[in-house]
Amino acid sequence: MSAPSTLLVQKYGGSSVGSVERIAAVVARIARDRAAGFDVVAVVSAMGDTTDELLALASSVTGGTLPSAREQDALLATGEIQSAALLAMALIARGTDAVSLSGAQAGISADGTFGKGRIAGIEPKRVRAELDAGRVVIVAGFQGVSDGSETTTLGRGGSDTSAVALAAALGADRCQIFTDVRGVYTADPRAVPAARQLAVVGYEEMLELANQGAQVMQTRAVELGWVNNVAIEVLSSFEEHPGTVIKEDTQVEKRNKVRGLAADTKVAKVTMVAVPDRPGIARSVFDPLSAANINVDMIVQNVSHDGTTDLSFTTSRVDLDAARPLLEEIRASIGARALEIDERVAKVSIVGAGIQNAPGYAARMFGTLADAKINIQMISTSEIRITCIVSESDAPRALQALHDTFDLATPDAVDAE
Ligand code: ADP
Ligand code: ASP
Ligand code: MG
Repeated sequence: MSAPSTLLVQKYGGSSVGSVERIAAVVARIARDRAAGFDVVAVVSAMGDTTDELLALASSVTGGTLPSAREQDALLATGEIQSAALLAMALIARGTDAVSLSGAQAGISADGTFGKGRIAGIEPKRVRAELDAGRVVIVAGFQGVSDGSETTTLGRGGSDTSAVALAAALGADRCQIFTDVRGVYTADPRAVPAARQLAVVGYEEMLELANQGAQVMQTRAVELGWVNNVAIEVLSSFEEHPGTVIKEDTQVEKRNKVRGLAADTKVAKVTMVAVPDRPGIARSVFDPLSAANINVDMIVQNVSHDGTTDLSFTTSRVDLDAARPLLEEIRASIGARALEIDERVAKVSIVGAGIQNAPGYAARMFGTLADAKINIQMISTSEIRITCIVSESDAPRALQALHDTFDLATPDAVDAE
């Protein structure tokens, strides 16, 4: 019996399969890896902006009312199925045996609601059989099956999660996330030109960065990688260049620095104005939101004056359309004077294990924003993160200024080793 070959799980994002030329480049890369003796499972995203275009179509045909969540998922999942089939036929035409599988065919089951599914488990029998038959397996990302037969998508950026979950289920030797940048940077390189690529980033720091808006990895993918100890390599499909490895960072104690910045411009701030200040009010606001599956993030309640208080929280703008009528209902039921929704805010975060137990970082962050004349609307912290809500138009300047203050363009002592 020959030795088992090395299995690569690769993921190609939307821009990496965004055109005929880009698909040809991916085909060449996979064929090269096959020729080098690797087994390959490739998870693909929909081509280019297909998901956004399908969402726009859904909203057009429903004339402004919210599309049925089930049908919207049925529609969105086709984007990834298309690119998977195209990639497979291009490989076959080039003489590399391949097969495309939908999420369901690949044995990916999901739980949770439409549009926000979470991978519950993978039965990779079919994938293994195809690999054993010598084929490259192309899996449509971003989708699974819930309740036995319902196509459910995994949230924006969900193909990352499909790939990491498959890598874990198959015990893959490597999980490579191919994208349109060289790896994970100290900040979004499109927003901060001086951002520096990191060679290694720990799961914990990457999880915070992703959760606070660093689009390069979906949060759930990092979480699954961490739990299953899958080392994830993020790298460019456009050029040959070493990427960034996301893994347990054994040097984390030595870094003592802010590792990176993240910004999320897809948030909205909701304020219930003049809420009667009595026990049970917070429950009356947040219970119905949680029952409707609307995620709430930062929560601030002001000091009470004259028996009333303002209650503010942030939520994702994507959830806002569904949340609006419910928020108005809640406002009326608790007797708040007004409901204010500000859709032009952004979350800006500094992240780093070095922040732990070091009050100096908060003072420097707030001082930097003050010097830049940027007003802080809300603040929240975790052990390794400080986040400020600022006006959306201030976010680019905030990132630049924070990148300078924390000297992120310069490698830390450990990186330089
Ligand atoms: P894909 O389609 O390959 O999944 P995404 O657009 O989801 O690609 O993610 C890649 C993008 O993430 C980059 O083009 C970059 O602008 C953005 N990004 C945000 N924060 C970071 C970061 N810290 N490091 C690298 N890229 C980042
Ligand atoms: N196509 C989906 C999206 O645009 C999933 C992904 O790209 O990962 O969010
Ligand atoms: Mg992505």
